[in-house]
Amino acid sequence: MKITLIKACAPSEFKKYKKKRGGPPQSLFSAAAATPAHHQLQMIDETVQKLNPKKINADLVVLFFSTPDAIHGYQLADQFRARGIQVVLGGLHPTFMPEEAAKHSDAVMTGECENIWQELLADAESKQLKPFYKGTSADLDHVAPYPVDLIPHQIYDGFWSVLVSRGCRHKCSFCLVPGMLGKTRYRPIPAIIEEIKNLKTNWLELHADNLTDDRDYALALFKALEPLNINWVGETTIKIADDPELLEAAARSGLKYILIGIETPSKSALKYSGKGFIKAENIKAQIERIHQHGIVVDSAAILGFDEHGPEIFEESVEFFNDVEVDVCVPVIMIPFPGSRVFQQLDQEGRILTRDWSKYDGTHAVYEPKGMTPSELEKGATDFYYKFNSTGKYMKRKLRQIKQLGTTTALYI
Ligand code: SF4
Repeated sequence: MKITLIKACAPSEFKKYKKKRGGPPQSLFSAAAATPAHHQLQMIDETVQKLNPKKINADLVVLFFSTPDAIHGYQLADQFRARGIQVVLGGLHPTFMPEEAAKHSDAVMTGECENIWQELLADAESKQLKPFYKGTSADLDHVAPYPVDLIPHQIYDGFWSVLVSRGCRHKCSFCLVPGMLGKTRYRPIPAIIEEIKNLKTNWLELHADNLTDDRDYALALFKALEPLNINWVGETTIKIADDPELLEAAARSGLKYILIGIETPSKSALKYSGKGFIKAENIKAQIERIHQHGIVVDSAAILGFDEHGPEIFEESVEFFNDVEVDVCVPVIMIPFPGSRVFQQLDQEGRILTRDWSKYDGTHAVYEPKGMTPSELEKGATDFYYKFNSTGKYMKRKLRQIKQLGTTTALYI
């Protein structure tokens, strides 16, 4: 069977951010890895590649997308179906909005693909797709490496992604990870090492939603990575800075860039959103300890929590600058359908639009509590310019050159 897997991505600020900071998308590559070799497989990641839908000639198209790309994904799906091609929709948005997605597809796949993928492909082959396929938590002992020959790593500027774990035990109000992936599962370390050894690049994301949650596993992984001489990016919580042995081991194994959700200086917003374990007063010292290992710290500044009033913009600029986060983009809190915060705002009648293309972090899609929607949008734009004002930018670059080296300082 001819199968085309597509990560749909509409032109937007969200796309620009993903293109700059992202690597191979998990949903797309997981499905490709689970596809038996006898199928004829094509993959397109619209984040970094151009898609011409008219040139797709397949028996089955599977589109993956998150909320900001949903309308675009549906438009593509409608085009393929009009040509008689079977269409399945999967990924974050279809998982949490399956009835909506069903209007544009022959089948909707929710959750993780591995446990239902063979059944879905067999049904597509016999043209008997069922309307819904409900994925369950996959056993990561048996996932295959991501294919490297369908979208080469050069397309991601030499960057690649290797799966380490799925899921997170925290339940942050705005996050879809707990609902989509459930509790944390880890891949066996030898499988990860083998996959990395076979890659033609040494610049990687070790993909995990909370990489160091299991300390023993993380220490064993870092030890096994050390001889490979790789440079890697990871995502975890600020707690790594409070564990000198773990931080040192991560740095020795090649950690160069860390994504940490610090989100906001507002204690009450952190507490409400489920991130009470972050103590704003400790962040500066924690980041300094990470910098001592030459590691770049990246955290978004989320704006528009109910606990935020108009003073939050100035406060956030000063906070993120003062604690010396290296990379920080302002994001208007996105109430993704399926998240706890969407449910709350919807119940309170505060969702202003269901135009999913506006759920990209630059639009106020809900009625904020402490300001107007236009104040929120303006405040987020102002944050960007104030955080990157000439004075602050130059000071930051000089500090980064000293702490992280010139190449890294110029790269970020
Ligand atoms: S935001 Fe991070 S810590 Fe919170 S639930 Fe999502 S993955 Fe876990």
